[in-house]
Amino acid sequence: MNLEFKNKKVLVRVDFNVPLDDKNKITDDTRIKSALPTIKHILKSGGAVILMSHLGRPQKKLNEDGSVNVKKFTLQHLVSHLNKKLRLKVKFCPETVGKEATKMAKALKTGEVLLMENTRFEKGETTGDPKLAKAMSTLADLYINDAFGTAHREHASTAVIAKHFKKGNKAFGFLMEKEIENANRLLNDPEGPVTAIVGGAKVSDKIMLLEKLMNLANNIIIGGGMAYTFMRARGGKTGNSLVEEDKIKLATRLLAKAKKKGVKIYLPKDSVIADSFSEKAKKETKYSMRIKKGWMGLDIGPKAQKEFSEVIVNSKTILWNGPMGVFEMKPFAKGTMAIAKAVTKATSKGAFSLVGGGDSVAAVNQMGLAEKVSYVSTGGGAMLEFLEGKELPGIKAMS
Ligand code: AMP
Repeated sequence: MNLEFKNKKVLVRVDFNVPLDDKNKITDDTRIKSALPTIKHILKSGGAVILMSHLGRPQKKLNEDGSVNVKKFTLQHLVSHLNKKLRLKVKFCPETVGKEATKMAKALKTGEVLLMENTRFEKGETTGDPKLAKAMSTLADLYINDAFGTAHREHASTAVIAKHFKKGNKAFGFLMEKEIENANRLLNDPEGPVTAIVGGAKVSDKIMLLEKLMNLANNIIIGGGMAYTFMRARGGKTGNSLVEEDKIKLATRLLAKAKKKGVKIYLPKDSVIADSFSEKAKKETKYSMRIKKGWMGLDIGPKAQKEFSEVIVNSKTILWNGPMGVFEMKPFAKGTMAIAKAVTKATSKGAFSLVGGGDSVAAVNQMGLAEKVSYVSTGGGAMLEFLEGKELPGIKAMS
């Protein structure tokens, strides 16, 4: 971010899409905290900061008369929290672009921060409307993109806007730099053994990631709901477990490809099975290949935990994407917890560990282990697409 900020107005696209409770209080401010270094740096360097972000999906939940539900989705909800974090009085503009926005941006002085209203109140934001992007760009001299969480979207404020700033007048923020650097550390010549842990609900969401990992990893550990499609590919009986019937052939192909490439695939030997998808269900531990009719695997079992942990602890580079079971329900959270512990143990022995994409980030945060892994990504879908090898529009637009 080596631009000259002195006496400049700097439009910073951040990802302040934070979760709010019924009273519009922020329940997790990770995304705000992650953007602070960039904002503080610009202020310290003599610039004025204009913040833009989206919050939720206001266009999907319009009022009955077709208007935007301002009360629910306004970024005003964040102002008092931002004031505290930045130790100054953040100004709030009730629109993203327009007369008032232009006036307030113009009047903004060095050292001040102006938060614009939710970018998604503008219909053209998610469609990448060039006119909207142009209008946004006229508010500032410089553009900083620090919104990694939306880098995989070609929206007006995240990608299209960049072309209105010349090279030298735009840059990535510190968070964006960190996300890219950490993902690249994993993708470019990582120290072996490299182990990828992939879990979560569906194989279909992770096909591209699995394909990419075949070229990268020595070991691929597959847990969570998606493991059962692979069990079926190996001829197992999986009862009522989550299986994507139309992906069994693909799972067979992936297993064969791994074998050919010498990549070791680990599936959970045993599972915690339940007689219904509920916290109160009856549960037992059984071999994952022999799950009874009417029962379903909702977590990896103790044998799997032990085997997976041993592989993880002996790795030098680790990627973790997706939980090992239905960790939101306490009776099925043990497997995910055991894997989180193994990843932190490997990290303490010098491994590089990246937790990125999907619910594994929530799991690590929930367990209070975020500080004990090398890097926790703030971008779920964006990190997944980056790791899959896709070029993200928010990154591409800057070059
Ligand atoms: P993802 O967003 O792909 O990381 O998927 C996360 C979701 O997968 C979580 O909501 C988990 O509850 C769910 N999940 C994990 N294991 C299982 C399982 N064995 N059966 C059903 N859902 C699962």
